[in-house]
Amino acid sequence: MKSVLETINGGASYLEKRGIEDARRNMEHLLAKVLQCSRMQLYTQFDRPLEEVVLAPLRELLKKRGEGIPLQHILGEVAFHGRDFICDGRGLIPRPETEELVEMILKQLPDENLQILDVGCGSGVIGLSLAAEKPASHVILVDVSEDALALTRENAEKHGLSNVEISRSDLFDQVRGSFDLIVANLPYVPESEARTMTRELSHDPTLALFSGADGMDLLRRFIPAAYGFLKPGGWLALEIGYDQASQVRLCLEESGFAEIEIKKDLSGIARFPFAKHH
Ligand code: GLN
Repeated sequence: MKSVLETINGGASYLEKRGIEDARRNMEHLLAKVLQCSRMQLYTQFDRPLEEVVLAPLRELLKKRGEGIPLQHILGEVAFHGRDFICDGRGLIPRPETEELVEMILKQLPDENLQILDVGCGSGVIGLSLAAEKPASHVILVDVSEDALALTRENAEKHGLSNVEISRSDLFDQVRGSFDLIVANLPYVPESEARTMTRELSHDPTLALFSGADGMDLLRRFIPAAYGFLKPGGWLALEIGYDQASQVRLCLEESGFAEIEIKKDLSGIARFPFAKHH
């Protein structure tokens, strides 16, 4: 019978041969799922022998991961800014840099009583994290995709959030009111990049990724419109593509925004534009 450690080593090399990055960490997550324990708990039971009842379902999961199905879809969950969210093909898999955006917003807007709008909410991780961190605030989350909205509703329920409102809108077309903060991680990938997509990316909804030839189509519509939905002194906070900072800055200037700052992500990429309504 194989031990936990031998199983991890075997699975990691299987995944590595199939070109999976971070193969060992992936393998540990899969085994932890089958054993219904945390990844850390695996380390205290390396010598535990594993029975076929564990190994058979594990082989199924390994096969899926080896075929390029994203780890987050296999686990059905993703950790984001300290909370676990349901994650499947109905929304974009939350990216680690987006957690940085949430962190920056919480620093920039320490007030408690905010009217917040998350446009293109996807799985809901940004707006719902803000709602959880600021229980006295009210957060409206909108998306054009009914699938995404269903996923956001499940995530809101999972975290017992009552200070949120979730409804369908194509950008601002159904939005009413004015806000202290509008946040958006809209699709910003150029369509030409579809050809060079990794296997994992092909599991994200196309609608959540691409936005015209240069990836800027939605941002060009969204930024000028956002100005009209902000209260005086309100903030816009965005996530954008790695080479879009100068175009987005120009668009923000032309739309009347002040105090424009494009904050860098941990890799040093100008990723998160912040701008204020006069
Ligand atoms: N950051 C994502 C990626 O590069 C794209 C997310 C988005 O378009 N908002 O895959």
